[in-house]
Amino acid sequence: MADITAFLSAAADLLGPRGLTRDPELMQSWLTDWRGRYTGQAMALASPASAAEVAALMRLCAEHGVPIVPQGGNSGMSGGATPDATGTAVLLSLRRMNAITRLDAGAREVTCEAGVVLQTLHDAAEAQGLRFPLTLGGKGSATIGGLVSTNAGGTQVLRHGSMRAQVLGLQAVLADGSVFDTLTPLKKDNRGFDLKQVLIGSEGTLGIITAATLRLLPAVAARQVLWVGLGSVAAARELLLMADTLAGEVLEAFEVLPLHSHHAVLAHVPGTRSPLGQDHAWYALIELAADQPRADALPDLAQALLEQGFEAGLIEDATVAVNETQAEQFWTLREEISASERAIGPAMQHDIAVPVARMASFVEHAVPLTEQRFPGTTAIAFGHLGDGNVHYHVIAPPGSERAAWEREEGKQISAFVHDLVTEWGGTISAEHGIGQLKADELVRLADPVQLTMMWAIKQALDPRGLLNPGKLLPTPAASRSALAPAYGGD
Ligand SMILES: Cc1cc2nc3c(=O)[nH]c(=O)nc-3n(C[C@H](O)[C@H](O)[C@H](O)COP(=O)(O)OP(=O)(O)OC[C@H]3O[C@@H](n4cnc5c(N)ncnc54)[C@H](O)[C@@H]3O)c2cc1C
Repeated sequence: MADITAFLSAAADLLGPRGLTRDPELMQSWLTDWRGRYTGQAMALASPASAAEVAALMRLCAEHGVPIVPQGGNSGMSGGATPDATGTAVLLSLRRMNAITRLDAGAREVTCEAGVVLQTLHDAAEAQGLRFPLTLGGKGSATIGGLVSTNAGGTQVLRHGSMRAQVLGLQAVLADGSVFDTLTPLKKDNRGFDLKQVLIGSEGTLGIITAATLRLLPAVAARQVLWVGLGSVAAARELLLMADTLAGEVLEAFEVLPLHSHHAVLAHVPGTRSPLGQDHAWYALIELAADQPRADALPDLAQALLEQGFEAGLIEDATVAVNETQAEQFWTLREEISASERAIGPAMQHDIAVPVARMASFVEHAVPLTEQRFPGTTAIAFGHLGDGNVHYHVIAPPGSERAAWEREEGKQISAFVHDLVTEWGGTISAEHGIGQLKADELVRLADPVQLTMMWAIKQALDPRGLLNPGKLLPTPAASRSALAPAYGGD
């Protein structure tokens, strides 16, 4: 049994008044997730200023058996950074650790503390004529620690890969307070397992990320951003193949959205307007981007793509952004979809992927099937067609009461969608992680061999289950003993 008084007193001595609070008002806004689906309680909010303080706090938690829930920008989509309702955990905010400690323009590397916000990193890289090649709608609040812990994706994975591909080195505090440190990157290193890759995507269940060294690329010298109206998602898939053949590695992004999402953004985001005169069933947002040597070729490439797309009967209408302001406006129409759809009302969101070549067919199959099975709902799919990954939202029938609908029909809808995705050889989490939202579904649908391996790693690194309990790998005794009899801890 934890001696809470002794723990809190030692934590207060360690972190000081700026680093530890129990004030309910100061804690309140961090106890609910971005989607507003989960609200938890915490015994305290800890905001350490350094990796050394995180390590010392973790040692205290280990000594007193206190669970710890790491949190970055709280922009995660799976409730992973929200503690449970018991109030027995410490909520650990990394937001105070927000220094960019090294930016080596020559080596094209940057080392950031975990609390650096993605937009801040973009700005710092840009000031050096460089760029960090990962972005997403939550860039104003998502932190490096959160992005690493969820192996975030976003709109540039098509060309540059997810967060996993950007991390050159990592620093993390483990459950016993020891510090894993590979911040100095090695291009080649074959001393066994790549342990940083085990920590990436572990959602705070194996260690607390305190810093990362990330790769940078030369700044984009020019880009062409195209907004294209299409008759179907199948046409979008054909156009993607065409763009890939024509543009090769300057194809930076290829995003799709249905008319419903476009209307949602136009209705809910002030100042937005449709780039095309008429409505189309589907839209593609295509970006071609190049550094200096290839910049001059971009306008011709964009024109060639549009001409070929029209000739092949794939494109119904299209326009190219005439300047950076308009390019940003096109991107706003894509990046504001999640927030706009949220404003419409209750919906079950699914972050799914199937093999890239099958995604268009999957959407054409799944949307009518879902709406038929759950009358009154509207199913929409938008996002990263080029990665075989769409955000598949099923919007509640008008007038539904959110909590009741999510609990009853919503749950059935998610099981239905996840079953369908599994049948198609896909995944229930392409980029948002499992968190608490999909922990049960992971146990229900994942390959038992993979689950057993994950439990074995969890058992080895966090035998008492202190790191982000209930997330990713659920703790119910039944599933634990069924899957990994060796797992011993709470
Ligand atoms: C409008 C919008 C659009 C988005 N679009 C995308 C998208 O396209 N692609 C995508 O992948 N995501 C997207 N996201 C989701 C979100 O931005 C990412 O999941 C992001 O990686 C979360 O970062 P965060 O700092 O907010 O983490 P949090 O939400 O605070 O935490 C997320 C998870 O990481 C853990 N964690 C956080 N920091 C640490 C740390 N230092 N050490 C260990 N564990 C930690 C938490 O415990 C939790 O499990 C979007 C979010 C918004 C709001």
